[in-house]
Amino acid sequence: AAAPAAAPTPATPAAPAGGHLRVRGLSKSYGTLEVLRGVDLEVRPGEVTVILGPSGSGKSTLLRLVNHLERPDHGFAALDGEVIGYARRRAGWGARRREVLRELTERDVLRQRTRIGFVFQNFHLFPHLTALENVVEAPVSAQGRPRAEVEAEARALLARVGLADKADARPRQLSGGQQQRVAIARALAVKPALLLFDEPTSALDPELVGEVLGVIRDLAHDGTTLVVVTHEIGFARDVADTVVFMDDGRVVEKGPAAQVLGSPAHPRTRAFLDKVR
Ligand code: ADP
Ligand code: MG
Repeated sequence: AAAPAAAPTPATPAAPAGGHLRVRGLSKSYGTLEVLRGVDLEVRPGEVTVILGPSGSGKSTLLRLVNHLERPDHGFAALDGEVIGYARRRAGWGARRREVLRELTERDVLRQRTRIGFVFQNFHLFPHLTALENVVEAPVSAQGRPRAEVEAEARALLARVGLADKADARPRQLSGGQQQRVAIARALAVKPALLLFDEPTSALDPELVGEVLGVIRDLAHDGTTLVVVTHEIGFARDVADTVVFMDDGRVVEKGPAAQVLGSPAHPRTRAFLDKVR
């Protein structure tokens, strides 16, 4: 049989495969304060999920648990079937599950971390490194990839976020919007299956919000799996597949963006949307 014609080489690499996030019964307390009370969440590959909710409702804690920055008390998060930081306390869990949820090694955690990109509210760039060096850092030191190859990719990533001419600038020479775009390029550099954004535009002057949301919008169109905590309702309406509303450590409501934003079912969602719109 004739071999099928080779597919044309795409101009830009396709979004990495995978990115299926499952969160089940995730709970976390700090002392007597219950911050997460059994959160379930499902994000399918290529989907964009926006998380809304008042300050203190547990949104950042949820993202930090998914990115191994905290450990849950109960429940688990799993990326493409691989469990992330499940609870140490396993009493009452079925024997089969206990077997599946073996203790993660340091190596597991490092590998999983490079599968997840995290963009913070306050950029968190290395102040003494240039934009290019910030982007190059993780693939070289955490993934052990050759610097020359990574640098070429890093330049392409800076171009993708509109900063080709800022490769040699240090963070203090950049505006907040430019710094956040460098942070996004840095998060993309490890080719993550999942990108988490924690209020990526909250620290920006209003006139700089659009340029950062525009970059995130482009990522969404490219099929990257995104979870975005934000108060930007217009962005949620345009870009999100699913909107999740959290309050007091729980998911109060979730569904298609048009449904949750257009006709919220829960009074607390309605009250929140009335306030932020
Ligand atoms: P959100 O991102 O929705 O504003 P957070 O997840 O940051 O909410 O916080 C939820 C609650 O947990 C808040 O009451 C916050 O003060 C508390 N909290 C978060 N992190 C810690 C911590 N490390 N120690 C104690 N309390 C914390
Ligand atoms: Mg927060």
